[in-house]
Amino acid sequence: MRSWQIIRWGEPLEPRDYPDPVPEGRQVVLRVLASGICHSDLHIWQGYFDLGGGERLDITTRGIQLPFTLGHEVLGEVVAVGPDVHEVRPGDRRIVYPWIGCGGCPDCARGDELLCPRPRVVGTWRDGGYSTHVLVPDARYLVPYDGLDPAVACTYACSGVTALSALKKTGLRRDDQTLLLVGCGGVGLQALQMARAVVRGRIAVAEPDAKKREAARAAGADAVIDNSDPKAAVQAVKDFSGGGADAAIDFVGRPETARFALDSLRPKGGTLVVVGLYGDRLVYPLPLFPLRVLTVRGSYVGTLDDLRDVVRFAREGRLPPLPVTRVPLEKVNEAMADLAAGRITGRIVLVP
Ligand SMILES: [Zn+2]
Ligand SMILES: [Zn+2]
Repeated sequence: MRSWQIIRWGEPLEPRDYPDPVPEGRQVVLRVLASGICHSDLHIWQGYFDLGGGERLDITTRGIQLPFTLGHEVLGEVVAVGPDVHEVRPGDRRIVYPWIGCGGCPDCARGDELLCPRPRVVGTWRDGGYSTHVLVPDARYLVPYDGLDPAVACTYACSGVTALSALKKTGLRRDDQTLLLVGCGGVGLQALQMARAVVRGRIAVAEPDAKKREAARAAGADAVIDNSDPKAAVQAVKDFSGGGADAAIDFVGRPETARFALDSLRPKGGTLVVVGLYGDRLVYPLPLFPLRVLTVRGSYVGTLDDLRDVVRFAREGRLPPLPVTRVPLEKVNEAMADLAAGRITGRIVLVP
């Protein structure tokens, strides 16, 4: 197999050839058909998350060794299965659910794999899908996607479940409520497309980029706001929602987007869900948490059931396909540069 790997943090990926993996026990090997490039791949590739104030969360302290193969939105065709695998066989096509726990800790035993302290995530802890082949630790993490475009369906493994999980955390249940989506990149756009299937209420999208605002309009946002001037944009959200959004999801995760989202919430009882990992830190007055009865929570990817739900929405026609740009695997470095420069609407998907 040929994998495009991080050899040195932050430097262009390089191809490396290895023997095809041989699955043991419950393992499955897939030939990769499509592999999405997620914005978080850019952070992992750099080797750190920016915590602000000169502090970094170093990826190497989480146990990732180089060379490493990125790619956690992977879909492929089964080519080999371990002796204990009975639910799939060679030729089957599946999406890989990548957010896999250790399988042995109390969190995993309860089914809270996302809380596992020793994860085995495909593409962030273990070698992922920027490759011709990928090894999956257990066949239970493979989800069928029959009838869907592979290049779109692979994005459900991260972008899709992240959008669904964040939408659920807003808790919006009434038609007179307003949800504000901040940032309309790959995940923000996916959330907008999925919102009608998950939450009630009106949806406003804030996005400084004109092309992405156009995509939000086309995807049916009730209001589309340019937040390059945050003060005017806060007022626009308040005017649209009649006093402030009931919930906001920050898909960017920068100080200015989180602050804009908090300022756009209704005076009391609003919820902010932070999803984006862009970096730096938020400074916010502590007395306003109690006085505004604020809820601020983080949301990270989603569960195996979330992935099955997203696939079901798509099959039922309740989730229009995310715009995807197909790029040959060997063009991965150019594709990552395009994503980093914000030149992409929707998702880039690598095709080996
Ligand atoms: Zn991702
Ligand atoms: Zn565990």
